[in-house]
Amino acid sequence: MVLNELGQRISNALAMVNNAETIDEKVLDACLKEITTALLQADVNVKLVMNLRTNVKVRANNADKGAGLNKRKIIEKSVVDELSSMLSSGLDEKQLVDLKKGKPNVVMFVGLQATGKTTTCTKYGAFYKKKGFKPALVCADTFRAGAFDQLKQNATKMQIPFYGSYTETDPAVIAAKGVDEFKKANHDLIIVDTSGRHKQEESLFEEMRQVAAQTKPDLIIFVMDGSIGQAAHDQAKAFKDTVEVGAVIMTKMDGHAKGGGALSAVAATQSPIIFIGTGEHMDEFERFEAKAFVGRLLGRGDWRGFVDKIQEAVPDDETKDDIMDSLNKGNFTMRILYEQLANVQKMGSVGQIMSMIPGLSNSGLFSKDKEKDSAARIKKFMTMMDSMTNKELDSSDIKLWQTESRIMRIARGAGVHPQYVGELIGEYVRIRTMIMGPGKGKGKGIMQQMGK
Ligand code: GDP
Repeated sequence: MVLNELGQRISNALAMVNNAETIDEKVLDACLKEITTALLQADVNVKLVMNLRTNVKVRANNADKGAGLNKRKIIEKSVVDELSSMLSSGLDEKQLVDLKKGKPNVVMFVGLQATGKTTTCTKYGAFYKKKGFKPALVCADTFRAGAFDQLKQNATKMQIPFYGSYTETDPAVIAAKGVDEFKKANHDLIIVDTSGRHKQEESLFEEMRQVAAQTKPDLIIFVMDGSIGQAAHDQAKAFKDTVEVGAVIMTKMDGHAKGGGALSAVAATQSPIIFIGTGEHMDEFERFEAKAFVGRLLGRGDWRGFVDKIQEAVPDDETKDDIMDSLNKGNFTMRILYEQLANVQKMGSVGQIMSMIPGLSNSGLFSKDKEKDSAARIKKFMTMMDSMTNKELDSSDIKLWQTESRIMRIARGAGVHPQYVGELIGEYVRIRTMIMGPGKGKGKGIMQQMGK
């Protein structure tokens, strides 16, 4: 089962609890049965699934004892907490991501062949380059023909210096030379790409040990294909047992990724997932945070991820603070929607970005399968917003949109049928209610649920 489907099924199971008139044992059991079945079909380790089931049940039963507690909320929160803790290693992942400037950080990448290791090395370098680091790439993969050329091509595209050799056959020698050279040139992030194999075998592990011994990496990152499911557990463990894996990057979390791989790998390595790859392009790479990931999985969006993306795309923009400020004040205006859509357009993959925005991920605005249609719809919506007055853009008063002449004026200005303006307003109201809650922004929307 792919991730989207898993999220949808868990959301539906939680909706059963939300829609039930009273929550008795039967309703809770039915909900948990659906969640556990979905997780097992997504290839999550059975032990982890059973733990989740027991823990949610215990918390729900405890809720019965407490007076005035909202059982629905407790069940939902415990499912979210349990999923998040499955995905958390308990270690301080931020510390692994916040590399220190001014010293050469040597980061070695390991993983099986075709997991996306070489692509990920470059994405990783590009991520830190945007943050002001001076990255460099070393190709210590002498096993796969064409590995050096591939790294060269990626590195050139992202304007990152690289090192490799067509003649030297000992990867440990190349790695040592490359790291040495880049240290002398004052690079503060030296990324070493190592060989993979189709399967785990001793020669690969021996090579990894030698490269690690020669380069003394500050961090070893295990790259894993997010679509492999259950096998992830054993694979991650085998790598962890050979070298000091400090962090995990899951690739191919777009499309057909199974949730189970991610969940099981964290448990096996006790190392946090720090980034995920969400496509073949260089910018399809994101920070991973368990809570936010679960939020997105359940269709609730991930404000922080979205806001980080904005900052990456427009580093000096004050948009981030403005949006956060406004949302914290309970004010989701039409202008915020406009700015979000504009940012979505600026940032590339519409699907990837929209899935981060609470409310938009499962709105009619966005169709995962029809990226082009989504982009066209966004454009049309923005054209209509361009015809709005400042007062209209800055108000979050829904009553404003009950005036027919207003709708007609905007439709004329944008050259569209009034029906489309109605559609835009409908979408705005729906997203606003979802984020801020019903009423004037003081209800139980996503912002409140996130404890903002
Ligand atoms: P390596 O053998 O582990 O170094 O793998 P490569 O970097 O050569 O990648 C193998 C294939 O996976 C290539 O076609 C990549 O474009 C693709 N790939 C890498 N990361 C991702 C990802 O996050 N999503 C998708 N869809 N494809 C990816």
